[in-house]
Amino acid sequence: MHELSVCQSLLREVERAAAANGSRDVTRIVVAIGPLAGVDGALLARAFDVARGGTIAAHAALDIEALPVRVRCRICAAETQTPANRLLCGRCASWQVDLRSGAELLLKRVEMTVEADAAASAS
Ligand SMILES: [Zn+2]
Repeated sequence: MHELSVCQSLLREVERAAAANGSRDVTRIVVAIGPLAGVDGALLARAFDVARGGTIAAHAALDIEALPVRVRCRICAAETQTPANRLLCGRCASWQVDLRSGAELLLKRVEMTVEADAAASAS
């Protein structure tokens, strides 16, 4: 399952972020997925339940946000939002567009608890 390896690399990023902040308890992970990223949100959520076991995010909630698809037109230079199955310029309807966003998968936010002593030593 493709989503499982996506999850594992996300969890590695989460663990790095937690370590950098001296946290040992991640409470929430927010991931943003573009419709052209090739990742199914529901499958990702299910894979997360499997992959998080034994990690720092074992009790973390997973929020998945959808990113819009945006294209930039080569003809009129407009940047517009468009449905993922219809990549046309929103102003002049040209098909000569470059994808600006919508194919990415981002770790948007990691929420964690930081213990008081760790916070004190960090300051
Ligand atoms: Zn255009």
